Amino acid sequence: MSIQHHPLDELLTAFAAGTLDLGQHVAVATHLTQCARCRDATQLMEHVGGAVLASLPPTPMSGDALTRVQARLREPIAYETPREEPGSGALDDIPGLPAFVRRYSAAPWKWIAPGVRLRPIQLPAVSGTRVFLLKSRPNTRMLEHTHTGMEMTCVLTGCFSHEAGHYGPGDFDLGDDSMRHNVMVGPAEDCICLVAMHGALRMAGFIGHLIQPFVRL
Ligand SMILES: [Zn+2]
Repeated sequence: MSIQHHPLDELLTAFAAGTLDLGQHVAVATHLTQCARCRDATQLMEHVGGAVLASLPPTPMSGDALTRVQARLREPIAYETPREEPGSGALDDIPGLPAFVRRYSAAPWKWIAPGVRLRPIQLPAVSGTRVFLLKSRPNTRMLEHTHTGMEMTCVLTGCFSHEAGHYGPGDFDLGDDSMRHNVMVGPAEDCICLVAMHGALRMAGFIGHLIQPFVRL
């Protein structure tokens, strides 16, 4: 598998710094499970971040710091209840989906357009970014669309092409509201992608306007 399209460095930096929202974090982490190059880059950023922190001059502690720490020591420790794995097996049949995503629950597939189905993934915490699987039949021409926020796409199986190139398994595509996508799915097999979408998807063209009210993306 030869990965051609990677997240921008800014995105990997935000991932390493922990500043992405959960849905975006899941999308970048999905790419990292498949891409040694980005894993190495992210690890390097984490080390650099640690080195920067270590090089900062020490900050004097406030006078009551010790008292406050001692007070905390007397507080009961609140253990976070480990989240029970849904274990629904709902996502077990999705090839290429990382193990950490398989533990999440998922709603059933729903039809959104001819040859295209969507399956929402239920994240374990609230996120401003929705995560879903998108499955398209071979040779499907996806409806031309724009979006109102950032959209991250990780190819799990199959492939697609649009104005910016060809995307196969492991590739990562970032779209924002300045782009219009005209996506064509490859001829060989179904294309399944994990998509993290912030904001709304707006479909363009006559058919898009017809079905937009019904798909409510
Ligand atoms: Zn990469």
